[in-house]
Amino acid sequence: MNPHIVAIFGGAVSGAEASHQLSQRGIRCVVFDQNMLPYGKIEDGLPKWHAKLRDKEEANIDEKLSDPHVTFVPLAKLGKVIDFQDVANNWGFSAVFLATGAWRDRPLGIEGIDDYVGKGLYYQNPFMHWYNHYHEPNYGGQQLALADGALVIGGGLASIDICKALMMEKVQATLAQRGIQTHMFDLERGIGKVLETHGLALADLGLRGCTLVYRRRVKDMPLFPGETDTPDKLAKAESVREKVLLNAQSKFLFNVLPCHVPVDKIVEDGRLAGLVLRETMVEDGKVTEVPGSDKPFRAPLVISSIGSVPEPLPGVPMKGGIYEVVGGQCCRLRGFENVFAVGNAVTGRGNIKESVEHGKNISQSIAEGYLANPDGTVSQQFRQREDVVSASVEALAERISHMKPPSEAQRALIAQRVKSLQDNAGYSGDYRAWADAKRPVRLEKLLGLEAHA
Ligand SMILES: Cc1cc2nc3c(=O)[nH]c(=O)nc-3n(C[C@H](O)[C@H](O)[C@H](O)COP(=O)(O)OP(=O)(O)OC[C@H]3O[C@@H](n4cnc5c(N)ncnc54)[C@H](O)[C@@H]3O)c2cc1C
Repeated sequence: MNPHIVAIFGGAVSGAEASHQLSQRGIRCVVFDQNMLPYGKIEDGLPKWHAKLRDKEEANIDEKLSDPHVTFVPLAKLGKVIDFQDVANNWGFSAVFLATGAWRDRPLGIEGIDDYVGKGLYYQNPFMHWYNHYHEPNYGGQQLALADGALVIGGGLASIDICKALMMEKVQATLAQRGIQTHMFDLERGIGKVLETHGLALADLGLRGCTLVYRRRVKDMPLFPGETDTPDKLAKAESVREKVLLNAQSKFLFNVLPCHVPVDKIVEDGRLAGLVLRETMVEDGKVTEVPGSDKPFRAPLVISSIGSVPEPLPGVPMKGGIYEVVGGQCCRLRGFENVFAVGNAVTGRGNIKESVEHGKNISQSIAEGYLANPDGTVSQQFRQREDVVSASVEALAERISHMKPPSEAQRALIAQRVKSLQDNAGYSGDYRAWADAKRPVRLEKLLGLEAHA
């Protein structure tokens, strides 16, 4: 039997793929996740209208974590339930992988604005968590109050998802006030189409819609970059980006304000009441702010969607917002011989670039594919993430074979600690039974639309 045991923190796309690569080589792993379920961004970041894709991706993770070489430990947050230095130095694991993703929203960067979180301001990660789960009968998280005329700060696909969610929620609620019942899966075909069937337009509902604010031009939006190294490719990429945005706008009726950055907050009665926006100019790829162009934009709600970075973990060195790894050494964490970061935990916001470099298959054709098949395009991102992890774990597996495996006493100690954590979580050790029991109630089920599942 292979004497090595690897600890993996985070059981989503990256952690599950790492466990799969190791278990295929006969190496046992213990996968710890902070949540009850190990699905990460698939469950809490991928908007719930991607129901089929979500179920497929989660089944993919279930398959990998059900391998007999894999032991799962839920509700085991590194940095809270488990101390990082302790697990890295004392538990005796052959190696420790950090596959904890990127869950901290980049700060909006306006002094004092975070005092208004929940009072007119939300960040993307908590917003999407609420959006994906608030329909669950036993949802116990924070409730968000939406309002028409929100400002969404962003520019990437995630910010378009926020606009789409906001528009669908407001239109659904306003139609309901008029006695017209509809639901997300219906509206997702296109808000305009649904309104048309009732002989209505957005303005008839008294709605102005939310506005996406982006610091560059529409044609610069990071909506799948594609190759841009020749004038022809750049022109093609720019036209694809414009098409992607126009398509989303025509379906979901939100507004776009390019070439503006937020520079100050507007506060009234202890709430954020809008932002001061400054115009920008883009020249030779550089953004410059236009002096004297500041204008107040009142909005009952601001949502910041400007990217996510890894959460700091006590004892884990960080540099530039991501875990500090030693170059060319399989993402080994600086200062630790046996700790490695994989997936979004190490690549953070640079993951698009890395995916492009690695997979070589985010191309204009994929970007165009997004217009026709958004699920397929997002799924491509998951495959690319797996490819990146798979390649690095392949190299790491060889390295691990030269590392010191845990002694018999350490193996017994690991087993004892793992059992105690599983007991505390109420986890019996049967992964499939646990995942089936803890999977949230799905909106499609509540609506009686099982075909979406
Ligand atoms: C809206 C959206 C936008 C996306 N944008 C991109 C993109 O820009 N580039 C790209 O490559 N891919 C993107 N993707 C694809 C995809 O999200 C990621 O590539 C992939 O899901 C990352 O997987 P991961 O396992 O690294 O991280 P995650 O899915 O974030 O999983 C991390 C896991 O670690 C767990 N965890 C976190 N902290 C701890 C802790 N302290 N202790 C224990 N467990 C912990 C979490 O609970 C979670 O299960 C996007 C997906 C969505 C839905």
